[in-house]
Amino acid sequence: MRRPGRIVTRLAPLAAALLAVCTSLRCERPPALRAADVPVHAPFAKDADPVATYPESFPMQVAVLWTRPDEHPLGVIHALRGMGVPFFVTRDFDQALRHRLVILFPGADKGTFTADQVRRLTRHVGEGGALFAQDVTAEPLRGLFGFREARRSQTRHRIRFESGTDPILKYLNRPEEREVRLAAAAYKETPWTSGYAADSGAAVLASYDDGDAALLSRPLGLGRAYLCGPSYTNVVLRCQSNRDFEAERHYVNVFEPGADVWLLLLRAWYESSAPDFVRLATNPGGRRSMLLLSHDVDWENSFAPALDFARLEKEAGAGSTFFIQTKYVSDANSAAFFQGANLDRLRELAARGFSIGSHSVMHARGFNAFELGPGSETLASYRPKALDLEHAAGGTVFGEVRVSKSLLDGEIPGQRTILFRAGHLRVPRTLPEALERCGYEFDSSFTACDVLSNFPYHLPRDLGFDDESGVYEFPVTLEDEEAPGIARRVPEALEVIRANSDNGAVNVVLIHTNDAKGKLEAEAALLRQLPDGVGAGDLLAFARFWRARDRLRWRVVQETAAGAGPRALRLEVASDEAVSGLTFEFARPLASIDGGATLLPDRRHAVLPDLRPRTPLSIRVRPADR
Ligand SMILES: [Zn+2]
Repeated sequence: MRRPGRIVTRLAPLAAALLAVCTSLRCERPPALRAADVPVHAPFAKDADPVATYPESFPMQVAVLWTRPDEHPLGVIHALRGMGVPFFVTRDFDQALRHRLVILFPGADKGTFTADQVRRLTRHVGEGGALFAQDVTAEPLRGLFGFREARRSQTRHRIRFESGTDPILKYLNRPEEREVRLAAAAYKETPWTSGYAADSGAAVLASYDDGDAALLSRPLGLGRAYLCGPSYTNVVLRCQSNRDFEAERHYVNVFEPGADVWLLLLRAWYESSAPDFVRLATNPGGRRSMLLLSHDVDWENSFAPALDFARLEKEAGAGSTFFIQTKYVSDANSAAFFQGANLDRLRELAARGFSIGSHSVMHARGFNAFELGPGSETLASYRPKALDLEHAAGGTVFGEVRVSKSLLDGEIPGQRTILFRAGHLRVPRTLPEALERCGYEFDSSFTACDVLSNFPYHLPRDLGFDDESGVYEFPVTLEDEEAPGIARRVPEALEVIRANSDNGAVNVVLIHTNDAKGKLEAEAALLRQLPDGVGAGDLLAFARFWRARDRLRWRVVQETAAGAGPRALRLEVASDEAVSGLTFEFARPLASIDGGATLLPDRRHAVLPDLRPRTPLSIRVRPADR
């Protein structure tokens, strides 16, 4: 949920007062700036049917059996895509049961399955299948999942995972992962959840604050059935859309995995249920995590020190993204500063190979309440003004997004702005729409704590629950300004990075370039002390990697030729965009891999060669003898 942003605006009070007088006298001239044309796309059609978008293509895929079309499976889809688990979506019971691993979504009540289907599900598990379900209340399914009673509630606030040996809890090893919140205590009404009274055949792996079971594990024959009380729509997607009930425990700068734990559960379920699993890893080049560098340049005196940060990063062999506020109208907050020598410095940053993103035009604290606007806003027509710290006139979401892009694209040779960050990290519901219709591809406007997510994800349109925009979100993990300032929080920041690297998640750091001393030293210290296996680099470059990874089409098939030793696999991949460093993880050590892939020393990770657009690659993988 929204919280007040804490990114402080710097005021130049005298200049502001003078300019307010000037403005009231209408002595302002149109700014002499180059603005590129930014076409505005018509509203995009709603997502296609997920059954068509995520088709069946190989036996190792997890089958997501979509039991009720009234609840879109985006929550589960986000979890599986984030974790690199192969899956398909189906409404066809028989097709789902041809796969060993089956997820039931969004649930099952008394009308969902016939008696024969319940028998077949039970037999599937007994014969070695793996079933992961949520929100099951149907009486005939009690025996399969191991509960005596199901209780629906809207008053639960917390979930605590048991420490134990069940393999699906493998990644929940920190206190922040052992207990997560569904809502802040102030909310009397919380998202709907199902809770259970377990029978003697099931183990309780997590419980709500009211004592009911929130996660059950039920062994049955050769297989196992898991039942999870909350819906992934509520514990994953609701958080990522920032429509949660303030479930986050902090706003920024701490490790908050409240939504990630549900992704990690599914990852561990897949890995423990599929003895020969293959997974698409989250980070490039076999790294455990990344520190993704970004800067906000949102003050007239922030441009010159930006070059000092660029120098430090160049020396460290890392790139970064500079988010530029294109302030061309003077108002109560400050004088215009997107002009003159600042533009020369900006062009120099770009010429040195650093990425440039938009940090809006006016950096309004009330941006989250702005109207979308008509989409016809241009430099010639758009004149927003801050009236005071909280209030503004004339601002629109389209205006902030479109005009800032047109100025960056117009003033910087070769620039095509595709990454946005809102001022004060305030996000209006219409931001995904405005961004995608203006040609943006990536956003970094939420904090990771606020959306309880340390993995990037597809930003839902209208911050809703059933439609995906074309924009990917990279939430801010660490920032510089919260007291006592990043220079005095480096050890805590490293601890957050360590926690995320244990999960394969990433860390976006935001450092304002208003201070080239303490903040610069803090960044140097972070880069020097990064934990083993954690890379550092440009946010925009990683965003491109992540999207290509997310859209990668891949399948694994066993080769038919039988012989001595384990059978070889064929890994087929295809990408629509160029991408480097894609890494696959294998359940068992490999004896060899061909096709130009590099086997890492643990022999369980392989880095693919650079992929060219629309040039499929087929790689033969030979597992080591057991
Ligand atoms: Zn800012």
